[in-house]
Amino acid sequence: MGSDPKRFYPAVELMAGVLVALAWVFALDNRRELTEDELIMTISTGLIAAAAATATTLLIRLSGRGHEAELNQLTDDARRDALTGLFNRAELFRVLDESIVAAQRQGMVLGVLFLDLDRFKQVNDTMGHEAGDELLKIVAQRLQSTIRSTDVVARLGGDEFVVLCRDLIAADSVVGMARQILRRFDDPVSVRGLDHRIGTSIGVAIATPDDSRSADDLVRDADAAMYRAKHSKAGIVVFDDAHRLQMADRQDIERDLRTAVERGELVVHYQPIVDVTGRRLHGFEALVRWNHPDRGELNPAEFLHIAGEAGQIGWIGDFVLRQACSQAAAWNEASSAARDLKMSVNLAEAQLLDPKLGLRVSEILSWAGLPPDQLVLELSEAIAIEHVEGLEELRHLRGLGVEVAIDDFGQSAMGLVKDFDLVTTLKIDKHFVRDMRAGDADRALIEAAVTVARSLGMGVVAEGVEFEDQMVTLQELGIDLMQGYLFSEPLAADGIEPARWFPSAADTAP
Ligand code: C2E
Ligand code: MG
Ligand code: MG
Repeated sequence: MGSDPKRFYPAVELMAGVLVALAWVFALDNRRELTEDELIMTISTGLIAAAAATATTLLIRLSGRGHEAELNQLTDDARRDALTGLFNRAELFRVLDESIVAAQRQGMVLGVLFLDLDRFKQVNDTMGHEAGDELLKIVAQRLQSTIRSTDVVARLGGDEFVVLCRDLIAADSVVGMARQILRRFDDPVSVRGLDHRIGTSIGVAIATPDDSRSADDLVRDADAAMYRAKHSKAGIVVFDDAHRLQMADRQDIERDLRTAVERGELVVHYQPIVDVTGRRLHGFEALVRWNHPDRGELNPAEFLHIAGEAGQIGWIGDFVLRQACSQAAAWNEASSAARDLKMSVNLAEAQLLDPKLGLRVSEILSWAGLPPDQLVLELSEAIAIEHVEGLEELRHLRGLGVEVAIDDFGQSAMGLVKDFDLVTTLKIDKHFVRDMRAGDADRALIEAAVTVARSLGMGVVAEGVEFEDQMVTLQELGIDLMQGYLFSEPLAADGIEPARWFPSAADTAP
């Protein structure tokens, strides 16, 4: 409405000047009659003084206005991402907070789209950071030109962006917006004369007017949906109630895992690996289980990946190694026949990446009193291939006599198999064994694996043997060592009677 009193300051100052001049004239006039010249001089001096005062204050005020503009610029900079000029994280959250309140008041739908570029790292790694920065600026412009004037786009950092879709009537419109953005990524981005198809994954969180989620919650949920979109290569994933439950579940599992060992809830079961030809026990595979107080017995597939992502694998791995090694040493004590047995323990990705893995394992072996050549470390082929650098630690252990098995062998481990100084055993994945009956391809693959293993002097173990005919076929293919429900499920240690499983124990008994 323009009622700022500062607007009237110059006029007030001018009037004050005139009043001062008049007062002066009046005072002089009281003492004696002024000549006409003196009167004009006095009045004009007063007026000039008043004008000068006014001009000075105007000048001061104008320069103050410049300062204000500068201040405005500074606060604007603090709200924006320096590289792209988009809103930054803090500003996004401020705007989102306001938008949530407005949407609830007006009964509108609010959409939060969390974007993570798909192949940004490649550009950054191969062409350098400056090219990466250029790409981010182009993406920012593209996003800005795709959204509507009511929407807001922000950069959270790295290659992560958030688009806020405001003033929508239906949830579908949010998804429509996400699709539109995804389509914009079909066009390649040209950086330094090279076209890059970068693509993006978008996670969507939709808040209807009755939604009680905070700004933090919405961004977290959109982020979680983005993670799924990325891993499922789905492009767009909308966060829903099922995700909410799963996330809560995950957090519970993570929390409970922290105390699972102290409370004795983690246990190790042992599944026999048998030599079907010699009709004797070859060894055991140690498989972890979690006796959860509310959920019952959980299989590794239900908690190990969560433990991995939460950084809890290290101590679970140590726990299993300790249990398995001391159990094997106890069986050695119980029966001299057990001294030929192998104890296989699975290694997780984080364990392979641990530069102290060699030290840890050798410490555990001597703590348990188990000869190193009775321990087999199993490494799934996917992990082994991804972290070839981590194999050095294993090589050190191999030098001590510890064996190394490539687990779930069959998809792409051929390259690793060359390393026969390191790898002692191939464990054929249970999927090949399961499908062996249906197609010839699986049988041929197993045959090939056996040929390779034999010519390199490696052992072969077939996993997941459930039926007699599978056993017979595998035997025909030249495999002696097998593991599967046909022989036994994984058993708790106290379910394994040395007298039954190591028959020669009777011979050596006094
Ligand atoms: P894996 O190392 O390939 O272990 C073999 C899996 O096949 C075990 O599942 C076992 O119970 C199951 N199995 C055995 N015989 C049969 C059969 O005849 N048919 C079928 N369908 N399955 C059979 P489990 O115990 O659920 O373990 C799953 C995976 O979890 C393991 O696969 C291993 O990769 C991982 N894992 C288990 N324990 C540990 C551990 O202590 N540390 C780490 N890092 N991973 C573990
Ligand atoms: Mg295994
Ligand atoms: Mg396996």
